[in-house]
Amino acid sequence: FNLLSVAAAVVVILHLQESDAAARRELHAELRGALASRRFELFYQPQLGASGRVFGAEALLRWNHPAHGLVGPGGFMQAAEETGFVLPLGQWVLGEACAQLRRWQDDPVLRGLRLSVNISTLQLRQPDFVPQVLDCLRQNGVDGRLLTLELTESVLMEDMEATVAKMQALQAAGVGLSLDDFGTGYSSLSYLHQMPFTELKIDRAFVAGIVGDTQASSITRNLLRLGHDLGVEVIAEGVETVEQYELLLGQGCRLFQGYLFGRPTDLATFEERVAGRAA
Ligand code: C2E
Ligand code: MG
Ligand code: MG
Ligand code: MG
Repeated sequence: FNLLSVAAAVVVILHLQESDAAARRELHAELRGALASRRFELFYQPQLGASGRVFGAEALLRWNHPAHGLVGPGGFMQAAEETGFVLPLGQWVLGEACAQLRRWQDDPVLRGLRLSVNISTLQLRQPDFVPQVLDCLRQNGVDGRLLTLELTESVLMEDMEATVAKMQALQAAGVGLSLDDFGTGYSSLSYLHQMPFTELKIDRAFVAGIVGDTQASSITRNLLRLGHDLGVEVIAEGVETVEQYELLLGQGCRLFQGYLFGRPTDLATFEERVAGRAA
C-alpha cells in the first residue's frame, strides 16, 4: 500500500476532527451566550385526558437564534450534552418550569395545570440533582405533584442504586417520573419494575404505525398493558390522527399528546387555548 496516501488520509481525518471540535466549541460559546441573553424559551404542548380536558403540558425547549430563527432541540441538544452545557441549561429549564407553575397556581382559570419537563441523564447523574429540584419547587412555593420529570431509557443503564434512591426522594415530594420514548431503547425490561416510575410515555414511532398495521398496534396494546399491570399511567405521544386516537382509546389508553390536539406553542398561545376551552 501507499504510505503517502495513508499519511494524507490521517492528516485529513485529524483536520476534520479539529474543525469538528472547533465548530463544537463555537456552538458551545454561542449556546452560553444565548442562555446569558435569555434567548432560550419554553414552548408548551398540551397533554389531555380521555375526556379531552387539557390537564397540563410538556415543556419543550426552543432557541430564538438571531440569524436562524426558532431552533428546536435537534439543533443543539447533542452539543449541549457533549459539552456539559445541558447542566446550566437544564437548571434554567427547571427554574422556568417552577416559576410557570407558580404563575398558573395564581391564575383562577389555569390553576392546577401540570408541567412535564425533560431531564437529561447527565442532569440526573449529578449528586445534588434532587436538592436542586426540591429547592426549585420550594422557592416558588409549588406542590411537587404539579411537576413531572421525563427521563429516557438510558437512565435504566445508570448506577441503579443511586438512581432509585433519587427517584424515591423525588416521588416522596410528589414529583411524577415519566419514562419518555418508552420502547425505543434497548435497555432491559427486567430493570423497569425496579425503577419507581409513575408514568410510561409510548414513543411516537409506535403510534405512527398503528393504523392498519397489526404488529405496530400489538406493540402499543402490550405497552399499555405492561404499564397498567405495573400500576403506572401510560401516555401516548405523537398522536396525529383521529384514527390513531380512537385505536389507542380502544386499547385502554387514557392520556394523549400530539399534533392532533396541539403542537408545541409559545406560552401565550398555549394559555389562550386552555383558557378558551375552560371558558
Ligand atoms: P421528546 O421529549 O420525546 O418530545 C417530543 C417531541 O416530539 C417534541 O420535539 C415534539 O415537538 C414532537 N412532537 C409532539 N407531538 C408530535 C406529533 O404529533 N408528531 C410529531 N411528528 N412530532 C411530535 P422537539 O420539541 O423537537 O423535542 C425533541 C426532543 O428534545 C425531546 O423529545 C426531548 O428529548 C428533547 N428536549 C426538548 N426540550 C428539552 C429540555 O428542556 N431538556 C432536555 N434535556 N431535553 C429536551
Ligand atoms: Mg419528553
Ligand atoms: Mg418523548
Ligand atoms: Mg419521542
